[in-house]
Parts: sequence; C-alpha cells; structure tokens
Amino acid sequence: MNQVNYGEPPEYLKNNKFFKRLDQLLQAKKYNKNKHYKIYSDTTVTNKLAKIYKQKCGYCESITKPHCDHYRPIGAINKEERHGGYYWLAGEWTNLVCSCSDCNNIKGTKFLLDKKGKRIPKPPVQKEWKANSKSHLNEKPLLLHPGVEDDVPNDHLEFNAQSEIFPKKESARGRYTIDTCSLDRKALNLRRKHRIDVIINNIRRIVNICLEKNINSSPIDEDYLQKTVQPQFNEFIKDICQNLEEREYVLLVKQLLNNFMYFFDNYNSIQFGKIKKTPQEIKEIVNYCWNQWFQSCPENIKL
Ligand SMILES: [Zn+2]
Repeated sequence: MNQVNYGEPPEYLKNNKFFKRLDQLLQAKKYNKNKHYKIYSDTTVTNKLAKIYKQKCGYCESITKPHCDHYRPIGAINKEERHGGYYWLAGEWTNLVCSCSDCNNIKGTKFLLDKKGKRIPKPPVQKEWKANSKSHLNEKPLLLHPGVEDDVPNDHLEFNAQSEIFPKKESARGRYTIDTCSLDRKALNLRRKHRIDVIINNIRRIVNICLEKNINSSPIDEDYLQKTVQPQFNEFIKDICQNLEEREYVLLVKQLLNNFMYFFDNYNSIQFGKIKKTPQEIKEIVNYCWNQWFQSCPENIKL
C-alpha cells in the first residue's frame, strides 16, 4: 500500500445531476443496486481515480484495470446485518479507492472497527463525509486507507526478503488490512518477488562486472570502489528512484532501499559468476556502496 493525495473531487461528483441522485438515495436510506446503480460511476471519475493511484490498486499496488472500490461498503457490512452499509458515501470521492478486481472481490463488504471505535449508524448531520473527517476517524476502522494522512502504511506493514507481507510490530491494522484483501496471496507474492529479483540481480551484475577487472586485489581499496562500482551502483538506483511512484510495489521497494543489506543477505541463490571474491567480500562491497548512496539519497525514499 502506498499513500495518495485525493485533491478535489472530479466535476461529475459536484454536478446537479449527481446531487439529485444522491438526494434520492439519502431519502431512500438504503443503497439499492437497481435504483441507485453506480451513482458514483462515470468514466471521468474512474479516470481521475486511476490517475491519482497511478493506475495501481490502492490495496496491493499492482498495476490494474481500475475498479472503483468503496472503502466503507455502501450496501451492507459483513457480519452486521442491522447496518445497511454507508449508503451516504456512495458518491463520496474519498470513499472511492482504485482497486484491482482481486482485492475488490476479496474485500467485499468487510469493514471491522477497533474495539474502541463506534460504528456510525446513519449519515452525520454536518455532512462530514470525507474519509479523514473527525466523525469517520472516530470509528477507528481497522482497514488502512491510502488517502488518510495518519494511515502510514510503513507503520503497519512490512516485507521479508522473499517479499512476503506481514503486520509490522504486530499491528492489528496491518493484520486486518492483509487479511481483508488477502495481500499475502501467492500470485501477488510472486509478482512482488519478481520486482525484488530484478533489483538485486542488477546490483549483483554491476558488482560482478566491476570486480572482474580487479579480481586479484584483496581487499579492494576504497579508491577503486569509488571510481568504478559506486558510480554504476548510484546510476542504477537513481533510475529506480526516478520512476518509483509510477511502478508497482512502492512500499516494498522503499523498504528494500532503506534496509538493503537485510534483503541482500537473505536473498536466495546468490551467485557471482566467475568472481572469486568470497560472499563476505561481495557483501562488504555492496554494503559500502549502499551506505555511500543512502547518505545522500532523495528524502522521499527514506522511511
Ligand atoms: Zn489489488
């Protein structure tokens, strides 16, 4: 999960036709698929949502054909039969999350609250309907929202070196978000793992090529590293950082870049071709380059 900025709602959700339909829905006090079918739905809405999410799913960060998911379910709430869902948020811009069909289907109507939170039974009279409004935040939802400033994904979610996702420091919100959208599903793990494979393999390749020319010198002196390996290391990582937000699995890659040696150390099947350096020597070289880079890396990369 990666944070996004919603900004102003699209024009469609501010026009008279939309408000007329919303009034009908508010009077009905229940979202009815036939009567209020996709009140929020217009290509301009989906397009704007896809744009702020950079064509990625707000929950799993896979590039996707965008679906409009309702963060707070509008027609029903799982295991709460007496609550008819947050029908008043059917067209609320900040209640829409760009989602892949898998996360959208798996999530369904699940929306649990923390024990200390209290479910809003009906529309707040002040029309405080934004996802970050006081009344809604007081519910203490367990599901993380990509557009709520205080829902910092890195505080709740973490990846191991095989790109498997876990709740960070036993975060209940992390646990619930993973379970609700099955963010640990196998196919997703494989896609994330591939993203990491490409980065680590390229670092290995860069170190490998540079060392081939310097195989007999041990240990490799700092001057040589600075002139040969470091510029190529920096160039490769710079490229990743420049396109980072546009590509999949930003949180995973940021965690990798912030804790590179953990991922590198625990990476499976390390091979260094013809290089006769020991794995320990290779590790020291990568550690040196990463430390040098990290000292002056762009601020938005740091977690
Ligand atoms: Zn997804």
